[in-house]
Amino acid sequence: MNRFVDKVVLITGAGSGLGRAAAARVASEGAKVSLVDRDAASLADTRELIEKENPGVETLVVTADVADEAQVEHYVAATLEAFGKIDGFFNNAGVEGRQNLTEDYASAEFEKVIGINLTGAFYGLQHVLRVMRLQGHGAIVNTASVGGIRGIGNQSGYSASKHGLVGLTRNSGVEYGQYGIQVNAIAPGAIMTPMVEGSLRQIDPDNWEEIGQQFVQPNPMRRFGEAEEVAALVAFLLSGEAGFINAAVVPIDGGQSYKY
Ligand code: NAD
Repeated sequence: MNRFVDKVVLITGAGSGLGRAAAARVASEGAKVSLVDRDAASLADTRELIEKENPGVETLVVTADVADEAQVEHYVAATLEAFGKIDGFFNNAGVEGRQNLTEDYASAEFEKVIGINLTGAFYGLQHVLRVMRLQGHGAIVNTASVGGIRGIGNQSGYSASKHGLVGLTRNSGVEYGQYGIQVNAIAPGAIMTPMVEGSLRQIDPDNWEEIGQQFVQPNPMRRFGEAEEVAALVAFLLSGEAGFINAAVVPIDGGQSYKY
């Protein structure tokens, strides 16, 4: 497929997991990609991977912390300077934060997780939506979570941030549909990325793989999702093929969030 020829896609959290997989997918379909992450080394690895797989692909890397509005302004401006427009935006960078009871969840941790996952995503929306409104087109995918549509437990900051991001998605989708812009969210379940590995290691550093297998047993499909499966959904939502899907929150979780 070549759905992204002549299109520019901006991706945050592009150094790892879902962001890297989405970048690889849209680049393989012809996109010019602007890759943002706070971790410069992992960004460089993503760029190398994409350039190796797609000779001639145009890439830009911007090291930025999405929780800092000036740095968000910078990654948007740098993308425009390099490529002149933003057709697709995968607003994806996020952290999981600690796992414990609400009463033990430190307020500094709460602020940190909200600062990245919610406020950081809001900054991204603000600055990219302004560009897309002037262009008269664009598609955005925010990375929410099953933890943004269901109660999971032991995730005060994460849950609040992802529920908030679902609200932002619906609000902006309703506002910007009239300008030819789609704003959607995905709600992934457990997808095996470095984030999930880290969270399993928090539970048991020595037996995290076994814990992982137990963890996915209640899932109707009895497995973790793969980053490439999420990337395929993101690419569809950004491609123009999904042009009448707006303000939606799409679960990608093997059916777990519908299970009683
Ligand atoms: P990951 O840890 O593999 O990748 C996240 C990337 O975001 C990393 O490269 C990290 O450096 C970057 N990042 C973190 N904070 C940042 C900041 N302040 N500024 C810039 N970059 C920052 O994790 P992942 O699993 O790929 O997660 C991506 C998104 O998907 C997150 O928003 C996460 O909450 C969400 N998500 C993941 C899962 C899952 O099971 N993996 C499920 C639901 C939602």
